[in-house]
Amino acid sequence: MTLIENVSEVMSRVAIEDKNKLSNLARPTTIVGVTKYVDANQAKALVEAGITHIGENRVELFLDKYHQLHEMPITWHLIGTLQRRKVKEVINYVDYFHALDSVKLAKEINKRADHVINCFLQVNISGETSKHGFSIAELKQVLPELAKLENIAVVGIMTMTPREATEDEKNSIFAEAKAIQENISSQKILNMPCTELSMGMSQDYPQAIKHGATFVRIGSEFFK
Ligand SMILES: *Cc1c(COP(=O)(O)O)cnc(C)c1O
Repeated sequence: MTLIENVSEVMSRVAIEDKNKLSNLARPTTIVGVTKYVDANQAKALVEAGITHIGENRVELFLDKYHQLHEMPITWHLIGTLQRRKVKEVINYVDYFHALDSVKLAKEINKRADHVINCFLQVNISGETSKHGFSIAELKQVLPELAKLENIAVVGIMTMTPREATEDEKNSIFAEAKAIQENISSQKILNMPCTELSMGMSQDYPQAIKHGATFVRIGSEFFK
């Protein structure tokens, strides 16, 4: 299938799932097109096909796409782990950062940012040691620390599911993420609206949306 066909298939699936969302307060899902597999020309084609939110997981790839395509009407997402020493190279080009996983990183972002950066707290719900993110237990302690940082807005929670997880395991991770997001949001902490939920990739975005995802990060489904 062509890129255009893939985009229209994902868009219609997302629209269907948006109607089935469990939460009646849920808002439409934003599709973040993940372009780490392709060059800037193909990323441009994705934007022209209607996916105007673009995500990269690595700083080098992000900067490459950003510098080639920054004149296009794109919202820029950095979705992968960010090392502290690379923050200053990239952070001011980022509209949404999905992988905030430590207070030290948050402080560095706060220092280097020249505007408020929308951040998702990455939460490691599955407990996989290979995955980054705050543990559920850590969150309680870090929220007051993060609330002090005026250049960081915690817009939501991000989580990933293990590739080999069963359908049931994924559903329980998504439900847990939704519960964490609602819990933080209900606390009405300064700089922490936490109304968004970044979860779901090519393999599992329909289930993620059912559980309240407001951002899905999709790569291979577009470029297969
Ligand atoms: C690659 C990547 C995605 C997209 O994965 P696909 O399975 O290709 O849709 C989403 N999120 C992160 C953090 C990624 O690195």
